[in-house]
Amino acid sequence: MDFANLILHFFYPTFCIHCGGSVEKKSHPLCPPCTELLDWIDHKTRCPICAGPSPCSHCRKNPKPLRPHLSLFEGVGPITDLYYEFLKTKRPHFLASLILLALSRSSFPIPDGIVPATQKLFPKKSPSYLLAASVARLLKVPLLLPNGSLQDKTLLLITPTLQATDTLLTFKRHLKTFFPEKVYSLALIDERLQ
Ligand SMILES: [Zn+2]
Ligand SMILES: [Zn+2]
Repeated sequence: MDFANLILHFFYPTFCIHCGGSVEKKSHPLCPPCTELLDWIDHKTRCPICAGPSPCSHCRKNPKPLRPHLSLFEGVGPITDLYYEFLKTKRPHFLASLILLALSRSSFPIPDGIVPATQKLFPKKSPSYLLAASVARLLKVPLLLPNGSLQDKTLLLITPTLQATDTLLTFKRHLKTFFPEKVYSLALIDERLQ
């Protein structure tokens, strides 16, 4: 690939970021076969308490009630390329549309607001914020940060990656101190181990 193509790709991907094959539309970062390779997590096969990989050794000793929670993918295959592309370009649109698709197939309600799982002082630069803001735009609901505006609202907490149940549980507990009606959570990539 020549330099001009690389620059063009940076702004408008013209080839599949997983296999290098051609894509149907410029806005689509994966070719059709690689789109098929996206391996959605089947929640019927997950731990009923923490929605992590099953059999779950953690919840037997010390239950971690994370549900209602939705994890979309494990950290393998094309989704990891999509995620690195997002970190590089800061363009979350495609990942946000995957989240919308997952929500439409789930039993989650349309939330009153989306909260990014970030505790950064300048959250606007964090991947959580960018992704949550894009989902909020697509759903036409407000993006909210942990403060008094959460009271009586149904919230969807979004994290791009999930390594430990405790991190997200702590965040959910923190949100609950603002008295929301209910807090749902969603992780794009679930990297938790059994
Ligand atoms: Zn491909
Ligand atoms: Zn569990």
